[in-house]
Amino acid sequence: MGLPGDQIRGSVERYLEIDQFLGIDSAPLFARPGRRVQPTSSGKRPTAEARSTGGKPVVVSQAISEEELARRQEALRALDEGQVKGCMKCGLSRTRNKTVFGQGSAAARLVFVGEAPGADEDAQGLAFVGRAGQLLTRMIAAMGLTRDQVFICNILKCRPPNNRDPAPDEVSACWPYLDEQLRIIQPEVVVALGKPASQTLLRTTAGIGQLRGHWHEYYVSGSPMIGPATPLMPTYHPAYLLRDPSKKLQAWNDLQMVMAALGLPVPER
Ligand code: URA
Ligand code: SF4
Repeated sequence: MGLPGDQIRGSVERYLEIDQFLGIDSAPLFARPGRRVQPTSSGKRPTAEARSTGGKPVVVSQAISEEELARRQEALRALDEGQVKGCMKCGLSRTRNKTVFGQGSAAARLVFVGEAPGADEDAQGLAFVGRAGQLLTRMIAAMGLTRDQVFICNILKCRPPNNRDPAPDEVSACWPYLDEQLRIIQPEVVVALGKPASQTLLRTTAGIGQLRGHWHEYYVSGSPMIGPATPLMPTYHPAYLLRDPSKKLQAWNDLQMVMAALGLPVPER
């Protein structure tokens, strides 16, 4: 940390990660002979803390005590093991293979909320591990973070057959679990991925094109005006960005607003 060489290397890698997100499936912004950075690989690359873009430290976790962290981890584990894993509250319990609670840090400053597990997630019991999940990994890397520094989950914990949209009765049955997750983690910012997640969390019928790019508020209690509000940024779902990569720049703008709100260094691009 602090060494000019490390800083330059850190900045270059950040730009490569941004290109990995923005450039995938389309022309890269500039030629990158030879090397490809794999955002999911760990090891040789500097840590997020060391990868500052302008000498500004990257604060990746909430400042909580070890005891508080352990308390939250236990609360999340109890919710998953004690309630979600055996849940039969809606019809999706009959067709799922595995419930998908979500994963990440109990001290995360940032929580991503998607729609529902797909086939890969249903098979593995983990959120965002398929193709859309790989793009989400790139989005997180472009922000200068790693998946284990944030928390990633969905509105529904079980897969709807054939990936159909969540039904209203399924959303109302499952929502309390997400609400409890957010109550436990107390993130500083929530990013809602795509239309169903954004509409559900904001109780609105407005389209994602109108909602994204603007700050909204999520009330963890689920009842507007009760309890403190958490700033919420809707953005495009990575599965949608795979279908229409021309929307990636707008999604990146949304993520840069999130980075600024969290005090993370925002690269000039
Ligand atoms: N899409 C989602 O919304 N969630 C996942 O976990 C995977 C794909
Ligand atoms: Fe329970 Fe949610 Fe799964 Fe329905 S989708 S069975 S409410 S965990």
